[in-house]
Amino acid sequence: MSHSPLATISVPANPSNFTYGRPNGGITKITVHHMAGVLSAERCGQIFQVEGRGGSSHYGIGLNGEIGYYVEEENTAWTDSNWDSNIHSVTIENSNCENGGDWAVSDATFNSLVKLCADIAKRNGLGKLVVGQNLTWHSMYAATSCPGNYLRSKMDELASRANAINYPTPAPTPTPTPSTGIKVGDKVTLKNWVDYYGTPLMQTRDFYYVSEINGDRAVLRADGMDGVVYCAANTNNLVKVGGATPAPAPKPATINVGDTVIVNGAGTAASDGTGAKTAVYTNQPMKVISIYNNHYACNQYNQDGGVTGWWDASQVRLA
Ligand SMILES: [Zn+2]
Repeated sequence: MSHSPLATISVPANPSNFTYGRPNGGITKITVHHMAGVLSAERCGQIFQVEGRGGSSHYGIGLNGEIGYYVEEENTAWTDSNWDSNIHSVTIENSNCENGGDWAVSDATFNSLVKLCADIAKRNGLGKLVVGQNLTWHSMYAATSCPGNYLRSKMDELASRANAINYPTPAPTPTPTPSTGIKVGDKVTLKNWVDYYGTPLMQTRDFYYVSEINGDRAVLRADGMDGVVYCAANTNNLVKVGGATPAPAPKPATINVGDTVIVNGAGTAASDGTGAKTAVYTNQPMKVISIYNNHYACNQYNQDGGVTGWWDASQVRLA
């Protein structure tokens, strides 16, 4: 006698509705069905208790996700309208949550189906579930609309979620970033006068303050310049200088197309930071023409309409 420990409701099918054993068969797959109705697992099982009903299934999952078992797995349930399929399959009926249409099932039902498929696959050595091979559905074996469009559309999700239970991917070991000791609030200067992307910078101050760090990218703020962001730099390119730690800089406001911004540093010809470099601008007011991927196409006001260049977020601030 074997069935899933996830099945908590026992409604044994009438012996007139299944075959003992698996004559010339053996479990190689799972077949998914729908009940074509909104039923509890218990109610579905009661249908197979009617003598001479001529049908049954191993399991049924009700509207609330409860799992019932009706025929033990070592026996052949009559579910797939196909003898050769029946002798090889563990079959699961699923309650719908609507009558007709795409015959949707509730999330509770589907979540239980995921767990039940994983458990059946594991205990019967089915390996990874592959849609259309060892994870099958009724209409593969008979002219029927069972299990409905909704469950048919969810077979890939069913396989991947069940496989994720049996074959969890180990969490990747995070690569530790070598610490430069640079932290937010530090007073720093640059070893090389280039920004995070290697674009040349003009030195306007003897030191800057780190206002933000993301990985190896530090945003530097210029003291005494109304808190203006000077550039983003690689933390490896920073060296600490002595002095008190100022209050953290305020978060920059969102910049939109049409805004006037103050541009600092050299821009580039392309939105991804590549292409020809522009001249280095210092506190140059420009108009934002377009925004892409955290880069800003800006137009110098004394030109007409054209894009003067692209600057990254660290190089522009609202005027
Ligand atoms: Zn069916």
